[in-house]
This record gives sequence, structure tokens and C-alpha cells, in this order.
Amino acid sequence: MKKLVVVESPSKVKTLGKYLGDDFEIVASNGHIVDLPKSEIGVDVESNFKPKYLVSKRSILQKLKKAFEGKTSLILAVDPDREGEAIGWHVARKLGVLTPAGSVKKGFELCRIVFTEITKTAVLQAIKKPRDLDMNLFDAQQARRILDRLVGYKLSPLLWKKIRYGLSAGRVQSVALRLVVEKEEERSKFKSEEFWKIYSYLSDSKIAKKPEYSIDLAEEKTKALVDEDENLICFELKKVKNKKPNITSQAIAQKILESLKGKKWQICEIESRGSKRHAQPPLKTSTLQQTASHRFGFSSKKTMMIAQKLYEKGHITYMRTDSTLLSVDAISSAREYIKKHYGEKYLPSSANVYKTKAKVAQEAHEAIRPTNISLGVDGLDLIEEEKKLYMHIWQRTIASQMSDAHLNDQILKIEIDEMLFEASARQIIFDGYLKVYRDKVKETFFPKLQEKQELFADKVIGKQGFTKPPARYNEASLIKVLEEYGIGRPSTYVAIISTIQARKYVVKEGKFFVPTDIGIIVTKLLRDHFPNVVDYDFTAEIENQLDEVANGKVNWVKLLKKFYTPFEKDLLAKEKNIQREDYTVLEKASADIVCPECSSAMNVKIGKYGRFYSCTKWPECKGMLDIDGKTNEDIQNEAKSKEFLQIYKAAPKTEDERDYLLKRSGYGRFWAHPDYPKVKDAISLELTNEIFSKIYGEVPDAKDGKKMVLKKGRFGEYWAHPDYPKVKEVLKIDTKEILKRKEDLGVVL
Ligand SMILES: [Zn+2]
Repeated sequence: MKKLVVVESPSKVKTLGKYLGDDFEIVASNGHIVDLPKSEIGVDVESNFKPKYLVSKRSILQKLKKAFEGKTSLILAVDPDREGEAIGWHVARKLGVLTPAGSVKKGFELCRIVFTEITKTAVLQAIKKPRDLDMNLFDAQQARRILDRLVGYKLSPLLWKKIRYGLSAGRVQSVALRLVVEKEEERSKFKSEEFWKIYSYLSDSKIAKKPEYSIDLAEEKTKALVDEDENLICFELKKVKNKKPNITSQAIAQKILESLKGKKWQICEIESRGSKRHAQPPLKTSTLQQTASHRFGFSSKKTMMIAQKLYEKGHITYMRTDSTLLSVDAISSAREYIKKHYGEKYLPSSANVYKTKAKVAQEAHEAIRPTNISLGVDGLDLIEEEKKLYMHIWQRTIASQMSDAHLNDQILKIEIDEMLFEASARQIIFDGYLKVYRDKVKETFFPKLQEKQELFADKVIGKQGFTKPPARYNEASLIKVLEEYGIGRPSTYVAIISTIQARKYVVKEGKFFVPTDIGIIVTKLLRDHFPNVVDYDFTAEIENQLDEVANGKVNWVKLLKKFYTPFEKDLLAKEKNIQREDYTVLEKASADIVCPECSSAMNVKIGKYGRFYSCTKWPECKGMLDIDGKTNEDIQNEAKSKEFLQIYKAAPKTEDERDYLLKRSGYGRFWAHPDYPKVKDAISLELTNEIFSKIYGEVPDAKDGKKMVLKKGRFGEYWAHPDYPKVKEVLKIDTKEILKRKEDLGVVL
């Protein structure tokens, strides 16, 4: 009788099929087949946090059941981590192999096999050494899922009441959001300071013209700093009277330049400093994501997608890992490769060892490395991006087992009136691991020089600069800091980053994360009232506790109780105490903005459609203004103005002859019934006939002579037969040209 092997991803089915014989049938679960319900919390807090799982992929379950029909032996070859363990457990339960308590039913055989690379050797070895399902790993996954569910479900409604409907809070992503928000706070507190640097460009041969002394203002970026064609050496003023120079104004810089005029530039010392540089450890999930971002500009999501493909094709080890360990076999084949291709010189006398914090023994993964080190990229069936990432992984793996690079820094020193100038150049004496993995080492060379030798100034420049605020986070640096804090795990980084973006708590400006108004407010509320939920140490401690659950040292229910009991109590108290006003007010409006009703000062508030001004006397006074300073009255007057009526048709009227009112929403302007929102009637603005024809030209005729009508679809406007879609006749419109004409005529919708 055949045995059923369950894997997570369909593409693994093929690869695995090549290695296992005809005794096995392989099917994929496509990830989880059950999940907590979408419509309710799905956790019975009173009964030890009992979760309610619902089948989330019915058709897949049917497929699995069908494949298991008539079989008794189930092999779980799910991914080697907690998520995989949980998927395996649920599959075994749904196929009727496990009892609710987790023991194997009579007449069935269940085994879990683990391999971290999909190669023939690894898979066959795993089949020979099956183990039981690990309940500790399963518990740790379940505890995280429930914890996140509780926080999300309990905190979100509070945000709805106190800030805005539809918001949501999550456990780990709220901490990530806090990091982004606090970086922005640091930046806005930052005061830029002026500083000056003094550079002199010297030559080893006499120069005919007189040296030039000039000032280079920061915003002028006129002069190229290094003039390599002219063979000039750039010296920088490093010390004044043995201290770091403190040049804070143009006047001081000017004075220094003056004092240097006519001075002799003589080398007083040539120093050589040798150094060694050690290779970096092999890649783990976080460093793979960071380095792929730096090297190729890949997002972390993209990196993981490509890595997963490489893993499933059998080319690299499992890509979710926080270990930098290499297996004994991998080390010896790397060493063999190095010796054969680069020679003894590049091979350290013993293998390089990297420290790793393997927190959970059962998850003792390896680093991310090629499964076959001697295999070049050309022999592999890969697309361009896969090749790039594969080569990157290959290089880091090989380099990690190679010798140190030897560098030499040459430093030229010139002293004039207690001012020390230095120029430095770096050479690679022996490239070592750099032969394979080029780090940021830029080689420069000086001409042959001697101590006491005189050099000649071509130009001396005072260059203005300003200190810069700390950089915002990008994906790579956010993952790095999350890892440093011990927050998140290899499997969660990508989810964290996409969640804070999907919820519009942060937006990307270029590559960098900037918090939105709402992101800032949510963080403020959580920081004020649920400090634990967004505390870095506390969140890291929960991660540790979850690791301990996985190690079998902490009971998951106890962990949840410890967190949830105080949290729930807090939640009830906070419901009453949190003042909505504290969180909807962003800042005081500037003094020239006053309330249209009572002339009081105004606040900038956040509303459903963004910022607006609200009277500081609210709720006694309901005065408010649009952020561009318009009152509702202004807007209604505008709707009656000559300028408006030149472009748009006048307000439609209700049956009792009242005017519809002009309103603005996040989607643009529209006519609202005077009793809106009680009467939910909204009508689009209509252009006057004159403006309409200026923008769209003559209305085209359909084939049957009828006038076509303007329609708006998903991809923009188009002409359609009046009986469309019954009569399928449409005409394309040049959207760009229309937009341009609208802009020219001042049509804003
Ligand atoms: Zn007022």
C-alpha cells in the first residue's frame, strides 16, 4: 500500500517525486488548511484559550482526503519550522489520523520527516529517520496565533471608538510602527548644525599658477572634490592644536584659509597601518533580506519569494532561519572547493566558526547556503533574478570559509602651525575572501613620496556642511533593528513590513518609511495607555517566552494567561478613561486661523478624510474649517459663484426646490442632498455644455446614428453606445490629452 506524503507547496511535489519511489504519493496542502474564523474572535478565553479552527481551504482538504483514501500511513514533510509543525498537525487531525489529544489512532501510522534542503541525499536520509510530531513547536505556533488574535480583536474596537472606525492594532506590527514614528520624532527634534571642513589639494610637482583659496557653500556643489586627472592628493584638516577642529562659520573657515596662504606643505610623517578583515558569516533570513536590498534593491518580500523558489527547486537550504551554522559536510565541500579553485593560500588552517544563538533546538537550522557548493550558476535552470540571488548566497557561503583579507592604510601627515592635515589611501595586500565576495573596499594609491618632501598647493577649499538628521528606516534597516531588539522572527519580518503599509500607518517615500497622521496617533494612544503592547523589551520577552514554549520549558496557556489577564483588565479601564479629543487633535492651528462661529483659536484635527480645523471650544462650538480655510458657507457660496458656474452646471434641486449642497470627500467633490447624511443622495458634478465640448470635442455618433455617451470605467473614460452594454460599441478616449485639457481649464473634480 502506498504511503501519503504531505508537503506545503505544490512545486515541492515535483522535486520530491523525483527522489521518492513509487511507494509514495505526494500531495501539497498549499499552506494552512484551517484557520481561526474571520467573523469572530474564535478563542474561548474562559476555557484555557481554546481556539476554534475552521477549514479555510475546503477543496484542498477534499483533495487530501481523496488521496488518503484506502491508505493508513501518513508522512508529514511540511516545512521545518513551527508553522510547518502546525500545518502537519491540522492535516493529520483532519485526515482522522490523530485524536483531539494528539495521539495516533489505532490502525494508522504517522511520521514527521524533516529536511532543510530538498536534495536526494537529504530527503532519503529524512525518510529513514522519521520522528513524531513535536507538540511543543505546535504549541508555540498556536500561542503566537492566539496572542496576536486577542490583541488585534480587543484593541482594534477601542481604536475605532477613540480615533476612527476601521483601524486595527496588531501586536508586533505596532512595535514596528512605533519605531518608524519615533524615528520621525527624532528627526523633527533634530536641529541641523553648520560645520566646515578644510581641504587642500596638493601635487608632488611644482605648479605654475598660484594656489586658489576658495569657499564652497553647501548648496553650490560646484567643484569636484577629487581631481584625479591632475594627480592631486586631497588632504583634510584633522586636528587643530591636537583637537578635532570646530569650525562653525564661514568667518572662521576664511580665517584659516588666510592663515594658510604662503605656507610650505611638507610631509612630516608617512604612517602605515596594516589590518585584517574577516569574512562575514553565511546568510540567515534577516541578513539575506538586508544584503539583497542593498545589492539588488529587492524588497524583503521579493527576496523571500525568490529564495523560496530556489529552495523548492532544491538549490538552497531552507530560507527561514536565524542560524549561521554550516553543516560539517557543507564546510568540508566549501573547503575543498576553495583549495581546488583558489589555492591553499585562501584556505584557513581550520574552518571558520561563527557564533549563533540557536534558541530552539528542534529548529536547529543551518544558514542559507547552496545545496551543492561545487555547482556553478550556469548549470542551473534559473531565471535572471534567481541567478542573482543564488550567486549572492553562493558567494557569501564560500567567502565565509576563506582566509582574512590583509589591508594596508597609508596615511600622509602635514603639520602647519599646529594644524594637522592628513590624506589616506588604502591598498589590498592580500585579497583573501574578497576574491569571492567584494565588500566595500576601495583601493587608492599615492605616488611615491618621502618624509620631509615638499608638496605644492593647487587649491585650498573651505567646504560648508550641515549635520543631517538620523535617516528614516528602509526595509533593510527596519528588519535589522527589529532583529537587534529581538522582535519578530525569520518567518515574520515580511508580514510585519507589509502589514504596517497595508494599514496605511506608514507610506514609502522613495525607499524610506514615513508614518502617516493616523500611524502617529495610533502609536501615541498605544504608547500612552498600553505601554506594554508597544514596549520593545516586553515584546522581545514574549518572543523569548514563545521560544521557551517551543523548547518545552514554558506552558503555552500559562504564557497567554500571564499576558492576557492584566491586558484585559487594562482594556476595560481604558475604555472609560481615554479621551477621544486627546488623539484626534494633531496640533494647534496657526494664530491667523480663527473659528468662523466664535473667533476662538482652532485645532488641526484628523477626520475621516484627513486633516481639518476644528474650534478649540468644541463640543460647545461646532465651528470648523476645511484645511484650506473654507467654511461650509464659503463652499456653498463658491458653488454659486460665476467662476464655478462657468465650468459646472448649477446645483440640482430637490423635489421641494431646495438646492443640493456642494461637499467634498476623499474621492472628490459631489452634490449632496440638503438633508445628507440622513438622506443618502449624492449626485456627481456635471460640466457645462461649453466646457464639456472644449474638453471632449463633438460627441461622436454611433453606427446607428445615435449620439454616444461618456462612461467611466476602471481604466478611465470612454464613449459608449447609449444602449451599452446591450449594444457593444465603444470608442477609446485619449486620457492623457483629456487630463491636460481639464487642467488647462481649471476643472478639478
Ligand atoms: Zn468656535
